[in-house]
Amino acid sequence: MRCEHFRELISAYIERSIAPPLAAKMDEHAAECASCRAELEGVRELWQMMAEAKRVEPPVSLHSRIMQEVYASVPAAPAPRWWELAWRPRFAFAVAAVLALLALVVWSYNTQSNAIALSVVSGGGSPVSPVAVSTLPTRFEPFLTDDGDLRWMLKMNASHPTSVEVVAGAQAVWSGSVAQETTAVLPAVPQGTVLDVRVVWDGSNVLRAWLPAEISQEQRKPVLVLKQRSIEETLAHIARAYGVPLVLVGETDPLTRVNLESTGVALDEMLTRLAEKLDLQISRAEDGTTVLTAR
Ligand SMILES: [Zn+2]
Repeated sequence: MRCEHFRELISAYIERSIAPPLAAKMDEHAAECASCRAELEGVRELWQMMAEAKRVEPPVSLHSRIMQEVYASVPAAPAPRWWELAWRPRFAFAVAAVLALLALVVWSYNTQSNAIALSVVSGGGSPVSPVAVSTLPTRFEPFLTDDGDLRWMLKMNASHPTSVEVVAGAQAVWSGSVAQETTAVLPAVPQGTVLDVRVVWDGSNVLRAWLPAEISQEQRKPVLVLKQRSIEETLAHIARAYGVPLVLVGETDPLTRVNLESTGVALDEMLTRLAEKLDLQISRAEDGTTVLTAR
């Protein structure tokens, strides 16, 4: 692929509206061409900034002030084409002024409100597809081994015999038919990580859980910066950073990307904002575990 072709397609590529084979060619080109890669990153950052800027209510006068600034700087005649304009010093200044104002709006939004900026780039479909049948009753319970290490067990129950498969990390942990309370002990979680658990029942319904190596006793407000992460990676990070188990009912869309910057907010607020963006419902199980469900 040639650089010009790559650059023409950058927007469509970021939007993921191009065919997978072409996207693969672009991946390849971006991997080997530093200048196109830089261009791509630049456009991505700008988009992200603009996506964030849309979230605030700017003062009514802001738009007209920006436009005045732009018009004042653009030479009246002859009408040049916009890409020629971009290289004229005065217009370049106006563009810089607009970007600076945008940056200011983003900045004030970030610092004034609850110190969390979140954007989701949809992969096309719904971020989390709901399960087809009613939820399999499951519970994740921590326990301490004789050595004092924290481990997790999964308790499952079903009103009628239900085929279940449990995978933790990359390891198949349990499979069989559940018709009464059944316990599966999950593998140890290495320090500082989370155990990624996947429970599939009736062949197609998925429940995910991210279980931390340690449960935080105090209310943490960790700083988080995540860029272009999948929903799974995002939830895993939150579970680890806050030291809480998180459960998600439904299958995540692998193409959806999350950008998250938080200078420290309480868990409830973090989850409320995320649930809003990903169209999830939050509920709290009896044991306090947070359960996110696709609407
Ligand atoms: Zn190139």
